[in-house]
Amino acid sequence: MKILVLNCGSSSIKYQVFDMRDESVLAKGVVERIGIEGSFLDHKAEISGEKTKIEEDVPDHNTGVEKVIDILQDEEYGVLDSIDDIKAVGHRVAHGGEAFPKATIVGDEEFKEIKDLSRLAPLHNPHNAAGIKVVRELLPRVPQVAVFDTSFHQSMPEKAFVYPLPYEFYKELGIRRYGFHGTSHKYVAQLAAREMGRKMEDLKIITAHLGNGASITAIDQGKSVDTSMGFTPLEGLVMGTRCGDIDPAIVPFLQKNKGWDAERVENVLNKESGLLGISGVSNDSRDVEEAAEEGNHRAKIAVEIFCYRVKKYIGAYAAAMGGLDAIVFTAGIGENSDIVRKQALEGMEFLGIQVDPEKNKARRKLAEISSQDSKVKVFIVPTNEELVIARDTHELVNGSS
Ligand code: AMP
Repeated sequence: MKILVLNCGSSSIKYQVFDMRDESVLAKGVVERIGIEGSFLDHKAEISGEKTKIEEDVPDHNTGVEKVIDILQDEEYGVLDSIDDIKAVGHRVAHGGEAFPKATIVGDEEFKEIKDLSRLAPLHNPHNAAGIKVVRELLPRVPQVAVFDTSFHQSMPEKAFVYPLPYEFYKELGIRRYGFHGTSHKYVAQLAAREMGRKMEDLKIITAHLGNGASITAIDQGKSVDTSMGFTPLEGLVMGTRCGDIDPAIVPFLQKNKGWDAERVENVLNKESGLLGISGVSNDSRDVEEAAEEGNHRAKIAVEIFCYRVKKYIGAYAAAMGGLDAIVFTAGIGENSDIVRKQALEGMEFLGIQVDPEKNKARRKLAEISSQDSKVKVFIVPTNEELVIARDTHELVNGSS
């Protein structure tokens, strides 16, 4: 069974085609700059290794998905004889609110609910819904599945997800902590448990998804019991351009003292803060680490603040779970940066965490990096959200036929 996985953003569509017989990737690519001058499609057929870049106007998501469907059947670069080979489409959807504690086949009702959830995720859900709508029009007989970033965290207890605000805000407006990156946290925790020869249900695991967006999750007996992102993906760790946790009083202070409106403040907190804001160098951790090495003070403290906050969350989550068996690092920074992993876990021997400096040099591959006598196992596990979406889609569509 062949499955198309789509991740529709505001100006991009990322795609992968899986053959679920062996979970191999047949093709992957991205349509970028949708609705902006200079749009293009980057495509790679995985088996032949053939790559192509098509620079063409892509005014909207409809045209974008059409281009994906075309290239998948292309004589030279295609991987399908016909689009009918695609038996299901899986979508990454940012927000499932409380309505979707797990992945779902998308019918009329689910589609409406996903669109309605745009009130909680205005930057993401409208584009995810647009992708679903286009596929419905272009491939009306193909079942579609939505896999939500929030679902895995629906197991959080009230004490972890209710904000200390007037309770009506939660009941009337849905203001609570939801958490994101759930697909990634669940996937890497499962693989780490497998590496340990144990069941996730018997373990206390902390997963650190450190990429341009970053979040950290406490997984107790296979369930997310707390996570650092909250009502939006702005809360928690320091990120590429997002501030993470700050004193909320800073928001009205900026409004009053700078004369900024809410939108301007939101923009600064989301797009001009984090590694970029502190360092003034870049949102890319490679550039920031390099500048820090060269003695740039702001870059140095950017890395320190990033790591210090990861460390504080690890301490907090070990306390929340009453113990800790494993820590997992994933995503761009987590999989690659030995500096971040080292700094984040330094001085944690009192919790039974010891990193082996040699093993910590590993990159982008599944590896145990804790020293032999470390009570807590530490792993690098490359994440693969698309594969999880393909698996969930496969399972739901097969189960329904
Ligand atoms: P992601 O959002 O998961 O794609 O991760 C993006 C982040 O990973 C960026 O900050 C990149 O700088 C970082 N990253 C990717 N490769 C490396 C690397 N080799 N060393 C350090 N950071 C990296």
